[in-house]
Amino acid sequence: MKKQTVRTRFAPSPTGFLHIGGLRTALYNYLFAKKNQGQFILRIEDTDRERYQPEAMSTIIDTLKKFGINYDEGPDLSGPYGPYIQSERLEIYRKKIDELIANNRAYYCFCSSERLEKIRTSQSKKSLPTKYDKHCLQLKSSEINANLKNNLPYVVRLKVDPGETQFTDLIRGVIKVNNETIDDQILLKSDGYPTYHLANVVDDYLMKITHVIRGEEWVPSTPKHVLLYKAFNWDMPIFAHLPLLLNKDKSKLSKRQGDVAANDYLNKGYLPEAIINFIALLGWNPGNDKEFFSLDELIQNFDLKKVQKSGAIFNLDKLNWFNSHYIANKPTKDLLKNVKTILSKKDFYKPDLFSLEQIIDLFKSRVNNLEDLANKTQFLFRLPDYSVELLVNKKNEPKKVKEILNYFLNIILNYQKSWTTEELKNYFDKKRESAKYTRAESFWPLRVAITGLENSPDVFAVMSLLGKEETIMRINIAIEKINQI
Ligand code: GLU
Repeated sequence: MKKQTVRTRFAPSPTGFLHIGGLRTALYNYLFAKKNQGQFILRIEDTDRERYQPEAMSTIIDTLKKFGINYDEGPDLSGPYGPYIQSERLEIYRKKIDELIANNRAYYCFCSSERLEKIRTSQSKKSLPTKYDKHCLQLKSSEINANLKNNLPYVVRLKVDPGETQFTDLIRGVIKVNNETIDDQILLKSDGYPTYHLANVVDDYLMKITHVIRGEEWVPSTPKHVLLYKAFNWDMPIFAHLPLLLNKDKSKLSKRQGDVAANDYLNKGYLPEAIINFIALLGWNPGNDKEFFSLDELIQNFDLKKVQKSGAIFNLDKLNWFNSHYIANKPTKDLLKNVKTILSKKDFYKPDLFSLEQIIDLFKSRVNNLEDLANKTQFLFRLPDYSVELLVNKKNEPKKVKEILNYFLNIILNYQKSWTTEELKNYFDKKRESAKYTRAESFWPLRVAITGLENSPDVFAVMSLLGKEETIMRINIAIEKINQI
């Protein structure tokens, strides 16, 4: 028998930004398809018109692109969007609904929202699960026809018969539910749009999806989908429900505890490859201690069977750790555009003052993200207003510090060699030694004078960046400060 081509899909609803959990779902679908030489499809599920946001689709598509998660089939933003946008497939769903009604697997429901509300309230009062009471299932065909003729608003519901529904989840094993717990789900809404459940199942079938890989939050919907596959007499795809992403305190990952939009991380200067590496390991582990994976390596190594059931903690420290590694190892020229964008938003930034390459080289091995890098450069543009205590430091005396700074100032004024980090470092070290100053007592005040900071990159690297004139000015400011005590 010919092996079936693996086809997976990412099926976001365009209700806003791309959530970091959604990005992981897209990634796992992509990895699984590519690992199996299959196809990965993007399908936009826009049937919930109340939550629909027109710009969400392009945001989602742009974001996926930035992460290198390329789909084989899906909407092209230049339009027309074609078959991968559900709102363009309404006729297909309508036909399928009619089939279900004709086969007695679904039925018209004309109940008013007041009636439904009443049932719900009375069920809640008795602590019963709230579900539809199948009232309209009893309607005679003459009543149905009369209602339709009179244009009474209606929905179409799935007819759930007593029994048990089960499916096998690749990650969770067999899941069984009593049909008593399943509502006669609305399949077609009164606005003529299908619900998520119907459109999702119809499309997964028609688009020949072999593996439905999605978040754990869809587990409760799956029995309804299974019933639909049965109602249509269709083969089911394989289901795999991914573990939830959790905050450190094990609550569901939420905006309140940090960023959840994939784009927010990009905007802060987390590199796509670092985010991909980090989220790939949120729920999956390769079974060895390898931690760094490129997208290609992820494709080679990914295994759905090694995805865990329990929730995965989104640990920002770990993301920072990955990101700092990726930034430190990325060629400076590849960081230029990104850093420039972030720096340009800072009010202290003056584009012509320093070379961006030099700035990046100075900081790239000491930051968690590029936003952090941009913030750390502020002292280059504006000397911070530091305290004399910082300059003098506990173990030193103001008089001695003043003497040292004057000594260094003199060296700079007469400095003839080239103004590079290495030359400066060697020369200053020689001079300090001949004057019998220790490194600690002399280079500390020099570094504070130049940077105004307690922690900073190497002072000579900073001096070489600032230039001679600015260096002299900053040492003078330091001497001034000591003079005032
Ligand atoms: N449209 C659903 C969502 O927004 C898709 C869920 C699924 O993958 O079936 O996540």
